[in-house]
Amino acid sequence: MTFGVNMLKPASNPATSPALTDVLKTSVTEKRAHILALLTSASAEFNAITFANSYGAEDMVLTDIIAKEKLDIEIFSLDTGRLPAETYSLMGEVEKTYNTKPVVFFPKHEAVETYVLTKGINAFYESIELRKTCCHMRKVEPLRRALSGKQAWITGMRAEQATTRASLPVREFDEGNQLEKFNPLSDWTEEEVWAYIRMFNVPYNQLHDQFYPSIGCAPCTRAVAIGEDIRSGRWWWEDPKNKECGLHVKAT
Ligand code: SF4
Repeated sequence: MTFGVNMLKPASNPATSPALTDVLKTSVTEKRAHILALLTSASAEFNAITFANSYGAEDMVLTDIIAKEKLDIEIFSLDTGRLPAETYSLMGEVEKTYNTKPVVFFPKHEAVETYVLTKGINAFYESIELRKTCCHMRKVEPLRRALSGKQAWITGMRAEQATTRASLPVREFDEGNQLEKFNPLSDWTEEEVWAYIRMFNVPYNQLHDQFYPSIGCAPCTRAVAIGEDIRSGRWWWEDPKNKECGLHVKAT
């Protein structure tokens, strides 16, 4: 299994520092206003509304809007126990920048201990089934607890991120978790996300500058080559059509 990308790359990642043209800045400003209106209306409609912050670039845009605008929306995250050190650094930076303490959900330790004892510490590389079992105990089950009692949740997903997200609506009913779901960044481009981060001085995961456009657990994420699909560094050994962790799948 190859764990890195060997192609030659420039010293800095151009994707994380787009040229801030007037057209781009105007687009981002308008889209920010739309999101603010959407989230203000959503928080008025639903008493128990929460935002799942994975600390990726997209989620930092939404964190910035929710925190700076003091919206009545809880922010939580999932700590799988296998996150990169850079993600924990960012969590600390977010605490300081926005003067908040994170609401974090962890996996149940009994499930992790049994998995490691019976399958192995890195068994997720061995089969899709073992990978999905790991994602379920470290992400899906904690997410269920995080969403328990909530009426609506918010994600930072974008339609262009993956083939599995191509027809992503801004608002939908999440059949799998049985609550309303908002995807305010659905129509944002990667360039707009980074323009927002630069325009508003938003803290972000330093791995993005090292060609990690999408960041999850450390052992299941790697850098990608320029021009490669944004999520190709996630579970890179699997078929792209099946590459979701179970957090955003539809009920069947
Ligand atoms: Fe486990 Fe990898 Fe899924 Fe993280 S991304 S929960 S380490 S299989």
